[in-house]
Amino acid sequence: MKPRKVPLRKCVACQNMMPKKELIRVVRTPDGEVGIDLTGKKAGRGAYLCGKVACFKLAKKSKALDRALKQPVGEHIYDQLEQDFIAVEEQFIATKEQTPDDEDE
Ligand SMILES: [Zn+2]
Repeated sequence: MKPRKVPLRKCVACQNMMPKKELIRVVRTPDGEVGIDLTGKKAGRGAYLCGKVACFKLAKKSKALDRALKQPVGEHIYDQLEQDFIAVEEQFIATKEQTPDDEDE
């Protein structure tokens, strides 16, 4: 029996490697819009953050998303993302608990 491989991604704020489903993906679309991607499937350059507001605040402070998305993220975008992050945090945690463990492809 081969152990199942869990895809790991690094949180851009705290630099911890985490299973993908523990992380929230922030995406910069080809149009240059930055937003939270709960599906993890949107096209564009992605950055991952732990599903914790504390990590988002850290990313905001250190401008980690600017580096990860290779584009300056304005203060107002960070503010907007922070609101969204708080709004999705609960939903994200609930979804995570429901998701069965067999979704790798
Ligand atoms: Zn983190």
